[in-house]
Amino acid sequence: MRHLDAPAPSSAAQGYGDGIMTHQAPWQRAASGAMLLDHDGRLAPTIFAEMSALATATDSINLGQGFPDEDGPDEVLAAAHEAMRSGLNQYPPGRGMPVLLDAVAAHQRRFYGIDLDPRREVLVTAGATEALAATILAFVDRGDEVVTLEPFYDAYGAVIGLAGGVHVTVPLRGPESSVDPDELRRAFGPRTRLVVLNDPHNPTGSVLDDATRRLLLELAVEHDALVVTDEVYEHLLFDGVAHVPLATLPGAAVRTITISSGGKTFNTTGWKIGWLTGPAELVDRVVAVKQYLTFVNGSVFQPAIAVGLGLPDAYFDGIARTLGHKRDVLSAGLRRAGFAVRPSVGSYFVVADAAPLGFDDAADLCRRLPELAGVVGVPISAFCHPAFAVEQSSLVRFAFCKRIDVLERASAQLASLSV
Ligand code: PMP
Ligand code: GLN
Repeated sequence: MRHLDAPAPSSAAQGYGDGIMTHQAPWQRAASGAMLLDHDGRLAPTIFAEMSALATATDSINLGQGFPDEDGPDEVLAAAHEAMRSGLNQYPPGRGMPVLLDAVAAHQRRFYGIDLDPRREVLVTAGATEALAATILAFVDRGDEVVTLEPFYDAYGAVIGLAGGVHVTVPLRGPESSVDPDELRRAFGPRTRLVVLNDPHNPTGSVLDDATRRLLLELAVEHDALVVTDEVYEHLLFDGVAHVPLATLPGAAVRTITISSGGKTFNTTGWKIGWLTGPAELVDRVVAVKQYLTFVNGSVFQPAIAVGLGLPDAYFDGIARTLGHKRDVLSAGLRRAGFAVRPSVGSYFVVADAAPLGFDDAADLCRRLPELAGVVGVPISAFCHPAFAVEQSSLVRFAFCKRIDVLERASAQLASLSV
């Protein structure tokens, strides 16, 4: 986060991610970009790995790492079985199997009215994670600035660090996770190369308002920056809120790479089938990197995700409705337990403030929560640079992508915190 009264950074030394100046090795830049290097230079596991291991070790309910505890649609699972049986077990084409390229293009047209050439403007990747990594590595050079919201998904910090970029963040403030337009303006400068926009947002469960989307695009145009959107929660919006891909704003498509994946939409987070879409010249440049990261992946899962993307509207409406109900169940349980619960409009996550319960340090609380209540969550501070982490110190992210009985059990157990 740039300080409010500070001028825009003029060199890499002033942002977060000065690995080049201090001669960190690439792995150290990646780890420190994700806040995983301690003062002695030791590497910590990601918060997701740490908290899932804690949940297993203590036999606690895991509301930390975001993954569903139920399988997705039968049609999708059956298509993967069928693909394996029918011999689709060798390398698929580098850009993705035509059936999935076509399905992604058809999905973008059907839901957002975006027209794409499936052979030139779509690229299949190993999850959204590889799409993000390949894109950032393709465009961010040493000292280039990359703007993201804060809190931010850890992979952004890691890959920006690996690329030698400078990570500049715009804070999401208050219970509504609002962006201050002046703070957004101040995040852009002459070295801004890329904006990575996560909307719907992990970990806050918020979505951007239209005015912020427009201002962000205006600033990207003014600074000739590329926009990369992470839309993995595109179908998980509640209360009738519609997803708006930034690429649909007038003038946005030429500079936007849109990223998503099948993991959240089809309860297949382990399959790691993702994709990106955008102008052919930009996609070509990402291919140059992507083909040397994984080359290709998931030959049997690609056709299955293609089936998923073609499911009727009722499927997509149904997953949002079901998950919205789960959000309500967990939010009510957290409220009863004494947390101040923030609104969640989308994603798998709800943010709860533990301060009313007398816990100001959520990182400490999360380590003790298995023993106190048999539940695991993750502290929001894990998604923040140190300065902003201080402001967010009493906040916990809980995942509600779990069965209702699990959420009810977690709620009942958490109620013991307030007695
Ligand atoms: N971006 C965000 C915001 C996420 O929450 C996640 C993970 N769950 C990813 C990217 C990674 O997606 P994938 O599993 O498709 O790589
Ligand atoms: N995206 C999931 C989360 O935020 C899991 C990510 C991971 O394990 N790397 O919980």
